Amino acid sequence: MHQDVKEILVSTEQIQEKIISLGQQITNDYQEKDLLCVCILKGAAPFMADLIRQIDLPMEIDFMACSSYGTSTKSSGEVRILKDLESSVQNRDILLVEDIIDTGLTLSYLVDLFKGREARSVKTVTLLDKPSRRQADLVPDYFGFQVPDKFVIGFGLDYDEKYRNLPYIGVLKEEVYNTKIT
Ligand code: 5GP
Ligand code: MG
Ligand code: MG
Repeated sequence: MHQDVKEILVSTEQIQEKIISLGQQITNDYQEKDLLCVCILKGAAPFMADLIRQIDLPMEIDFMACSSYGTSTKSSGEVRILKDLESSVQNRDILLVEDIIDTGLTLSYLVDLFKGREARSVKTVTLLDKPSRRQADLVPDYFGFQVPDKFVIGFGLDYDEKYRNLPYIGVLKEEVYNTKIT
């Protein structure tokens, strides 16, 4: 375990097992559809990479980057697009791939955006769900694990851009926040 990690919430084995089962569900549900998986950068990249290799269908992938306005602790719900898709979403079945849903404001904004662009369907899959913090009326169509209201890192999730490479989901030690010089 990394020295800055207090506890592991979800192990590498648990994540891989869950991704196999999510891939099977998505494969069943998207027969005869025109699936486009959209990775929300950067956090969802490791999850997306593993998930698409468990989907046994003709499909395409694309990438999007956004940031929410407001301070780091308080999201305003307004989302700025930093990198848009290359693909057209019109008449396609969009699956938005996220690392974690917290307030839900980011993802509900993106769902509305793609509906406005005339996607045939827009669904969401998230590795982690923190339902206790929800502000937007959003329930993921597929999720890996529910986590308590703690700041988690690893498997794509960062603190100050670090720890995305950890192969498990962990909780950061408090002293790491407190000793950081900003
Ligand atoms: P939402 O709009 O749902 O509040 O924001 C979701 C985004 O906030 C996630 O994609 C992620 O970037 C960030 N986030 C929310 N909770 C956590 C957390 O516990 N750890 C990390 N590293 N990022 C989080
Ligand atoms: Mg994210
Ligand atoms: Mg982040």
